[in-house]
Amino acid sequence: MKLETRAIHAGHAVDPASGAIVAPVHFSTTYERAPDGSYPLEYVYSRLGNPNRLALEARITALEGGTAALSFASGSAAIYSLLQTLAQGDHVVAPDVLYYGIRIIMTDIMARQGISTTFVDMSCPANVAAALRPETRLVLLETPSNPELGVCDIRAIADLAHDAGAQVACDNTIATPVFQQPLQPGADYVLHATTKYLGGHSDVLGGVVVAREVDERFERLQQIQQVGGAVPSPLECWLTLRGIETLPLRVRAHADNALQVARFLEQHPAVERVNYPGLAGHPAHDVARRQMSGYGGLLSFQLRGDAAAALALTGRVKLFRRATSFGGTHSLIEHRASMEKGVTMTAPNLLRVSVGLEHADDLIADLDQALRD
Ligand SMILES: *Cc1c(COP(=O)(O)O)cnc(C)c1O
Repeated sequence: MKLETRAIHAGHAVDPASGAIVAPVHFSTTYERAPDGSYPLEYVYSRLGNPNRLALEARITALEGGTAALSFASGSAAIYSLLQTLAQGDHVVAPDVLYYGIRIIMTDIMARQGISTTFVDMSCPANVAAALRPETRLVLLETPSNPELGVCDIRAIADLAHDAGAQVACDNTIATPVFQQPLQPGADYVLHATTKYLGGHSDVLGGVVVAREVDERFERLQQIQQVGGAVPSPLECWLTLRGIETLPLRVRAHADNALQVARFLEQHPAVERVNYPGLAGHPAHDVARRQMSGYGGLLSFQLRGDAAAALALTGRVKLFRRATSFGGTHSLIEHRASMEKGVTMTAPNLLRVSVGLEHADDLIADLDQALRD
């Protein structure tokens, strides 16, 4: 089945109790045992599993072409839980530009558990090769990266990691499985903040880890999910499943709009640089073209000017909302460095833009008037 069909049918069944086409939300936290003490269905207690969560995991597994998936209460909880499968003395290689919350997890939390991280510029696979050690267990990728929209070569890095005995986990939040399926070029796990495009309406937090194979690490991750308990509620799973049904349609519209906005910004004299992998001038456009079938709805740009000038621009937009996050219907603009506070690696003149589903002409007109002053 094609991706559009899987987005609607994977993990879906007509409700056997009512014939309902739309799945009910199973709020029950507990499930009945048979008189002999056995569980006639697979459900016991909602933290361990429930129909809405299993449906969500089945659907995302199908979209990424994996074997199994585990969902979590947020994207951060998904990544944090995967990292909890590591042991003291293990080493991780991670990108120098990545979602800032993950950097805090690595440097402040994992470091105290005896798990060290080397941060490298992954636009050049040789930097990853140089950072690999005998005790490296995991290489984290984020491509495109947040907020610089850098792109790294998944296949080249996966080959290097596997030769060194390490596994690869790729954060695919920005591209979505519509435009990139990292398991194919060799990633072992795919990570998503379903909070963003999969949910798609800025109204539900969630995260997921999809595995190429159910290996020992994945089994440990399942234990961490079920016993650790950082799980999404049934309603959150239901909302995310509904979002996924329109994912292929939405992200193509986001990407069409984003390319138009990126091209407008690129030729504007007040703009120093536009970061969008769909532009021919992006430093890794060739790699992006090879491993992606579209470039997504997120971009960032750097103004000619300082942090104050960038912040001032966010005060002049009328249609864009000044807010963090991305992947929803409303276009958002954010001065990223002030959001990332002390841990920021982001240029002070950078603004991150989540291009929404409004008409591109209206978005461009808004940026045009905001850039005029
Ligand atoms: C938002 C985001 C996360 C974290 O997800 P939450 O649901 O906010 O915890 C992780 N990775 C990337 C790339 C993100 O954009």
